Amino acid sequence: MRYESPTSTREAVALMAAEKGAAYLLAGGTDLLVRMRGEFIDPELVVDIKRLPGIREIRHTAAGFSIGAGVPCVALGRDKRLARAWPGVVEAAQLIGSDQIQGRCTMAGNLCNASPAADSVPALVAAQAKAVVVGAGGRRRVAVEKIVTGPGKTSLAKGDIVVAIELPKRPAKSGDAYLRFIPRSEMDIAVCSAGVSLVLGPRNVVKQARVALGAVAPTVVQVPKAARAIVGTRLEDDALKQLAAACEAACSPIDDKRGTAAYRTEVAGVLARRAAAIAYDRARRKR
Ligand SMILES: Cc1cc2nc3c(=O)[nH]c(=O)nc-3n(C[C@H](O)[C@H](O)[C@H](O)COP(=O)(O)OP(=O)(O)OC[C@H]3O[C@@H](n4cnc5c(N)ncnc54)[C@H](O)[C@@H]3O)c2cc1C
Repeated sequence: MRYESPTSTREAVALMAAEKGAAYLLAGGTDLLVRMRGEFIDPELVVDIKRLPGIREIRHTAAGFSIGAGVPCVALGRDKRLARAWPGVVEAAQLIGSDQIQGRCTMAGNLCNASPAADSVPALVAAQAKAVVVGAGGRRRVAVEKIVTGPGKTSLAKGDIVVAIELPKRPAKSGDAYLRFIPRSEMDIAVCSAGVSLVLGPRNVVKQARVALGAVAPTVVQVPKAARAIVGTRLEDDALKQLAAACEAACSPIDDKRGTAAYRTEVAGVLARRAAAIAYDRARRKR
């Protein structure tokens, strides 16, 4: 196996594109190395992205935030402006693994590993995050929900590298939240999860909303009907009931040892309701 650690994005793309055998990018390695050690994959080439320019930086831009694909999740909470603007995204990323994992794992790796239960992805989808992808054809921005196409599968072409995740700027009175259910308190894979992002208008009426569910389908599911159920409301009980019903209707989970399909479906509605209430409360308090 060849290991490369290029210092330019162009070189990284060229290395990946030229390799005839199995080639993988390495960010934190917390998924990749486990799969290699478990002999699920046997790469000819591993390209470490951590020396690429700007890859470990969080930039505050006029449009919002640009989080380099090599930024470890632990760093997200230390960026006070980011944590204030997008508390739900930050809490989702910081649920991943343990302290040791946090020091290595990245949101871009969480996305590109393409697990239906990846914790940061529902929060990123709710936040309308974009992945900045560099490949043989140049640079493009792709909505995060378009990256994962199925368990372990992405829409990325050979040589494509996610170099950053972008989050939009937040207006006043906006909030987001992410909740997952796991049978134990730490270090487990989500049985199901929900991310909600809201913007409030005059008199704290919900003006915009996005709702996304994890671990209830082959990819994260965005639920526009759930969002519509709470727009124009102050999250009264009836609106929350409709949100939960829309979420349940959008679920098509598997039965496995961690939860039956019926259980996942019901809990997804409950989590979405609770996440919406937290996001609303955060938005109400923010000036
Ligand atoms: C003990 C343990 C606990 C865990 N707990 C959780 C958890 O609670 N929640 C959760 O969601 N996950 C969990 N994980 C899984 C893992 O930590 C996360 O998915 C993590 O975010 C992966 O990020 P990484 O930077 O380590 O990715 P890597 O392992 O470096 O890469 C993952 C995959 O994405 C590809 N890739 C990486 N970066 C890029 C890029 N920039 N562009 C294109 N492709 C790329 C790689 O080639 C690889 O296929 C856990 C893992 C372990 C070992």
